[in-house]
Parts: sequence; C-alpha cells; structure tokens
Amino acid sequence: MDLRFGDSKPTDEERAAVDALLGPPASAWEGADDRTDTDLRWARGGREARERRDLLLPGLHALNDRVGWISEGGLAYLCRRLTVPPAEGYGVATFYAMFAVKPRPATVVHVCTDLACAARGSARVCTKIERDLGPAGSAGSGAVWQPSPCLGLCERAPAALVIRAGEAPRTAVVAPATAEAVADAATAPHEAAAEPQAAAAAPQARTPAAQPAQAGTSAALPAPTPAPRPSRASGQASGQASGQASGQASGQTANAVARTGSSAPGSALAAPEAGRDGLVLLRRVGVVDPGSLDDYRAHGGYAALRRAFALGPAGVIREVTEAGLVGRGGAAFPTGRKWAATAQQPDHPHYLVCNADESEPGTFKDRVLMEGDPYALVEAMTIAGYATGAHRGYLYLRGEYPRALRRLRTAIDRARARGLLGEDVMGQGFAFDIEIRRGAGAYICGEETAIFNSIEGRRGEPRSKPPFPVEKGLFGKPTAVNNVETLVNVLPILIEGAQGYARTGTSASTGTKLFCVSGTVARPGVYELPFGATLRELLELAGPPKTLRAVLLGGAAGAFVRPDELDVPLTFEGTRAAGATLGSGVVLVLDDSVELPRVLLRIAEFFRDESCGQCVPCRVGTVRQEEALHRIKDLTGDAAAGDIALLREVGRAMRDASICGLGQTAWNAVESAIDRLGAFK
Ligand code: SF4
Repeated sequence: MDLRFGDSKPTDEERAAVDALLGPPASAWEGADDRTDTDLRWARGGREARERRDLLLPGLHALNDRVGWISEGGLAYLCRRLTVPPAEGYGVATFYAMFAVKPRPATVVHVCTDLACAARGSARVCTKIERDLGPAGSAGSGAVWQPSPCLGLCERAPAALVIRAGEAPRTAVVAPATAEAVADAATAPHEAAAEPQAAAAAPQARTPAAQPAQAGTSAALPAPTPAPRPSRASGQASGQASGQASGQASGQTANAVARTGSSAPGSALAAPEAGRDGLVLLRRVGVVDPGSLDDYRAHGGYAALRRAFALGPAGVIREVTEAGLVGRGGAAFPTGRKWAATAQQPDHPHYLVCNADESEPGTFKDRVLMEGDPYALVEAMTIAGYATGAHRGYLYLRGEYPRALRRLRTAIDRARARGLLGEDVMGQGFAFDIEIRRGAGAYICGEETAIFNSIEGRRGEPRSKPPFPVEKGLFGKPTAVNNVETLVNVLPILIEGAQGYARTGTSASTGTKLFCVSGTVARPGVYELPFGATLRELLELAGPPKTLRAVLLGGAAGAFVRPDELDVPLTFEGTRAAGATLGSGVVLVLDDSVELPRVLLRIAEFFRDESCGQCVPCRVGTVRQEEALHRIKDLTGDAAAGDIALLREVGRAMRDASICGLGQTAWNAVESAIDRLGAFK
C-alpha cells in the first residue's frame, strides 16, 4: 500500500499517547526516529500492522484524551503505526463529534440541547453560558463549550458533560446544569461535585416522607390506578384490564414510589423505584455495591452462568427462545433465533457485540444498568458468548458515559482475576473475554452494522444487508449483536426458567421493560414495568404534568401520543396497533407550555446532523425536512399546507429508500405530530 504522509510530526505528548496504546515502535517503518541496519534490509509493518486497524478508534481516543484534539502530526503517526492511509484516518476522525481536528482548549464542555433537556430549560442555560464563556465554539478562558445531542442524562436534565484532556483525563457531569456550575466545572473538573448514584445506596436509606413535586407538575392523572406487575393471567388481555384487575396492590406500590422518589433538583435518582420488591432487571440497582464482585455474588450473581453451563449452549438457546425474549434496542427481533443462527454458522471465529451505544434522544436505561449493576452485563455477555460459540465479546459503549466506563472496566478486570472471564471460565473449559470499545459521539453507531465498521476502525456507516450479521458481521465473521437490556434479561430467564419468565407480560411481549421517563414529570428516571401496563400507569408513577400536551413514545424515531390515548398498553403489539412504537423505551412527556414546532425542528436537526450521508434519500431528505419545518415553524393552515405536502413526499422517500433505520424513521415523529396532534393546523 502506498501511504502518503506529509511532513507533520507528532509532539512528544502525542507520540507518548499512541505508544502507550500500541507499545513503542519496533522499527523506523513504524515511526521510530532512528533507522537501524535491519530496517534497511527488512520492511516491517505492512500486513501485520494493518491487521491492527481496529485500534484506530482507540488510538484516536488516546490522542484526543491526551491533547484535547487530533493534530495532523499525531494522526499521521497513528496512521503510520497501523499502516492506515492518513486520508482514511482523517475520514474516521472527522466522523465522530467528540473528536476535533482543529486546535481547541483542553477542556470541552458539552451542553445537551436535545429534547429532554430542552423541555427542562437548556436554552436558558446556554444563553448564560454564552455570557460567561463566550459563543459556542469560541476558545475563551481555557475552555470551549458546544451544544450537544442527548447525553443520556435525561433524568437530571438539563445536563452538561465536561471533559478535560491530559495525561489523566478528567470528566465531570453537571446535572441539573446551571451556567455557574458549568463554568466552575469547566475551570476545575476534578473539583466538580460527585455524580449522584444511579439510585439510593439502599432502599431503606431513603426518606419515607413525601417529596414536593417539581414546579408545573402534579401527582395524578384522572385515571385508573397503576398496575406495576400484572402477570400474564391479568396482563395479556389488555393493559386496561390488567390495571383494573390489580389496581389496589399496584396503587399501593405507586404511592410508595411517590413517597420515596425524590424530585428535588440535584437529587433526582436515575431509578426512582430502586429497591422496590418485585423488580427484575433493576433488582440490584441501588442495592449492591457496583464495584464489588462479592456483593454481586451475594445477591444472586453468577447463578445464571452456572445454570447455563449445566444446560449447555443449545439448552441456553432453547430457554431464551421459549421465554419469548425479543431485542430491547428497538427492532424487537427474537433473541433466541439470532443466537441459534449465529451458533450454527460453520465459519469461525464467532463474535459477540454488546450494543451499549444508546444514543436515541431520551434513552438512558442502559446507562443505569451499567452503572448500577455492571457485573450483570459481564455475566450476561459471558452466557451469550457461550451460547453462540463466541470467545470474544466487544462491549461498544457510548463515549459520553464515563462512569459506566469506569465501572465496567473494574467489573471486567475483577471478573477476569477471579476466573469468571479468561481461558477457563469457572473451570468449565470455556474461553471468553470482553473488550470495551468506546464510541465517540455518533448516533448512527447504534445501528448494528455501523458498530462493526466503527470497531474495525472505519467510518461508522451502516452496511447493506444481506449479508446479515449472523453470517458476516464483525471482521466478516458470524456475529450476534445484542443491546444491554436484552442481554440482562437472559439472567432471569435462566434463573426462573423460560416458563417462569414468560408468565410476566403478554403472550407476544414477555417479561418486563425498562422505560426512560423524562420531560415535565415530577420523578423522571428509569422505571421497570411488566409488558401490558399502560402508558397512563407509567405516568402515574412518574408524576405527570397538570396539563399534558403529548408524550413522545420511542424517541426521535418514535411517535407522539395524545392525552386521550394514554391507555395504550405498553407492549410491542399494543403500541404497533396504536400506530406508535416502544422503540428503546423513551417516554418524553411534554406539557402544554411546549412549542411543538420547535420540538419538531430539533428532531429534524438531530437527524440531519446524525445522518451518515451514505445514501441520498436520507442525506438529502433530512436536510429538506429540516428546511421545510424551519419555513413553517410560525405558520398554520393554508400557509403551511404546501410544505406539509412536501414533508409527506420527502418522508415517504426516506422511509422507502433509505439503507438503514435512521433514514427510514426520520419522518416518523414529524408525521405523527402533524396527523395525531394537529401540528400546524
Ligand atoms: S439511512 Fe441515513 S444513516 Fe442510514 S445509511 Fe443511509 S445516509 Fe446513512
């Protein structure tokens, strides 16, 4: 390969950052300063180095973490070490929002301006930050700030994330954010207040007294009492019926939650119900010490893996299939079928990829699981690897989740040290290990094939299917990709058995589901409910606003639901029948102070910004959609009719002809706002 490098040289700092990742260069061919006699006779690097191309993204992180941006010299050195053409390296570096290829200060402040934060006043915060730190993007006072898509901190909106580069990079989360707190954290991120836990340390430690509701919120909707855990027997007929059948007990639970949930700014818990009896996926969040493997085991950890070894790979797949588990990332594909299809591929090695890149605006459930119960994910990935015949699992984690990163690293290291990962897991002769790969701010990398490209060191652009990942996935090998919540569901399936697990929920949507409730509610956070509960019941738990305008269900790619539609059962089939979607479990609540056209414009802007640009319907359509919404943001009736007709035409083209789900769903929320909420009428 003919690599063309310019004259730019890395600084000592940049060289050290890359060498810390890759080790020192073995020859001048790899970028060493001195050329040895051997180098003159033998060219090293080439194929061997190219096979490490998947280290390009970690290498870019190493440069960005150390210096705060990626210079031409630093990029050239990294590319030389990996035998990657610098132009390709540049293409990858510029794909991700968290990297910069132009000089900027070491401290970067990302201020979320996405839907949940906008509903909580992020615009006001940005105005004040602008006053203190200067316009967005300007490098004043040693820090630069920039508006950001969703940071996954919606329960504490508005949120900001401060990242300071250096030998020991620092991060600080400021949420709920004020301009003053952001300015303080930008100056001294290491002195920023510690992030609150995902949940209280122990349920009994929480204050039993009622908490005041947040301004503009009330405690109740005029509706049936909530039903947190209807069983199949009461839940499968309809969500409404289930609510009536178990209303009394569930009402008590709702009241208990209302008493214990905190609504004071700054103390909002990511999982307001943590510690409540009957939780399945959240049962250890806020209860165990997330850094302690012993505590995890004392709370039932690794019982599922032991059962998996007793069942054998085929037995595990049978249990998961009979339990009816489907993917929780939005696509709802049957997990058992995916695992079986991967396991039976003759090509080897097989890989497992855990998709922890939850970037759908308003989604933060996987963060809560990873921060509060990291060993559960490690155990679940080990089981998935065992079932699918994979000996290596990649955990692709959002770059904006520093605390989850720390906890997962600790969990993986400790599991490895205790023989729960490695060459001989639990002495069962099964080899499996997990490698974390950090994303760098690209929504599209949550798409299952875009993840492969990102891990392989390419731009995170989705691939055309077929071939499907189970046949040709990561590194061209059979790969099972599962979302965090999906994987964590495997633990109760193996412990309770398929039949026991499937008793919760409905016949088509078994088990429980995590919902990310944000916006104008008293107690935002992650709630766990059995499939079949209604949207109304969920809102009762979270404390809905007095004057509800709409609920965005499923995120930016989802649909709006009206206040008179709150009895929709929260199941895959129920939301589908209602013309909505569960998506990744986003429930963004908007009161009547919301300016709907502005919300739609923000959604359109998000998709235009996050489109990878690979296919025309999406690349052009998302731009046209934003332009049309911009033109009609203050118009109604006949004045908006022409652009609404254009939006429909563009939306159809995106839905029918885009390669991946981003383009196919980019018009969903706008369409539902026009058709269901009467936007622009
Ligand atoms: S639909 Fe959009 S995001 Fe998906 S491949 Fe096409 S351009 Fe990229």
